[in-house]
Amino acid sequence: MTHDPADLAPRLLDWYDAHRRTMPWREEPTPYHVLLSELMLQQTRVDTVIPYFERFVARWPTLQDFAAADEDEVMSMWAGLGYYRRARNLLKAAREAVARGGLTGDPASLRELPGIGAYTAGAIASIAFGTQTPVVDGNVERVLSRLHRDGSDPTTTKGKRRFWELAEPLVPADRPGDFNQALMELGATVCSPRTPDCAACPWSHDCEAHAAGVALEFPKKKPKKKPVPVRGVAGILAFDGGILLAKRPAGVLLGGLWDPPSAEVDAESDLEGALVTAFRERLSLDVVVERRLGDVKHVFTHRRLTRTVFRVGLVGVGEPQALQGYDEVRVHRPGDGLALSKLALKTLALADDLPLLG
Ligand code: SF4
Repeated sequence: MTHDPADLAPRLLDWYDAHRRTMPWREEPTPYHVLLSELMLQQTRVDTVIPYFERFVARWPTLQDFAAADEDEVMSMWAGLGYYRRARNLLKAAREAVARGGLTGDPASLRELPGIGAYTAGAIASIAFGTQTPVVDGNVERVLSRLHRDGSDPTTTKGKRRFWELAEPLVPADRPGDFNQALMELGATVCSPRTPDCAACPWSHDCEAHAAGVALEFPKKKPKKKPVPVRGVAGILAFDGGILLAKRPAGVLLGGLWDPPSAEVDAESDLEGALVTAFRERLSLDVVVERRLGDVKHVFTHRRLTRTVFRVGLVGVGEPQALQGYDEVRVHRPGDGLALSKLALKTLALADDLPLLG
């Protein structure tokens, strides 16, 4: 079976022309639109991203507008999309790109921007500038592993490199951006992990795994580690007409986001005692636990958190200070635009008896 790029690319592009999905960033694939959409799409479904993309473009129509945005506002608009480091990277990359005179079609120079890896650089260069360079995501890895019946493990560095090497010669000089999008789309819609629709695939006659009836065995991956269970506590404190929230510093889990004061605890810890200590050591406040509101569960990439939420009351008077692992502390009132993590929203939902949350 040969894998002649001159034959494979036109067939994939014909398929794409007939089946491409409508997405707002495809209507006008400017470098800014591609940067924004590709960062939003990492680990996130297209349907989820579309309204966020539209809101961002309406608020900041150009790269220059976005580069001048306030970080808190960006984080607040990003709330709910998850993986918040992407939002900070996006802003840093936009500012750096504007300082350099704009985004370019050279993948190597794009990769010098903060948070821009090979994938995003390839996407901007090929889709927005027509540079003949590959783009490899999980969908592309799956298609190529099946097409070549290649047993490389895409979760390893060596395996990843292998899929970039397999992709590179396939990218045509004509319409490289459409080709890359077509390959990702083929993986997303036809060559799915568990139910590939090989009858609808433009490469079914070229695909070695399909010919051997072993498509589902590719790509070969080591089994994933299960997320580690973690226990935590959080306290809802009514304060000065609102609820006290604290902000974590950038660079840590949920960094830059606001959340009720909380702590991680050992499985056998005294939860109420740990919470009182956390308020004292992290916020310089003395509190008493009034009642248990319930538990919230939240899964991060490698951790499965069960957080017990308590209503707490202030002992005497106190002025909160952001200490140990917090950047800032503030009183949250409805509609103040603070960027809240999904975990914070779940936690606050347990305090719905507080009229101040509306
Ligand atoms: Fe995937 Fe089937 Fe197409 Fe092979 S023939 S690339 S397994 S959809």
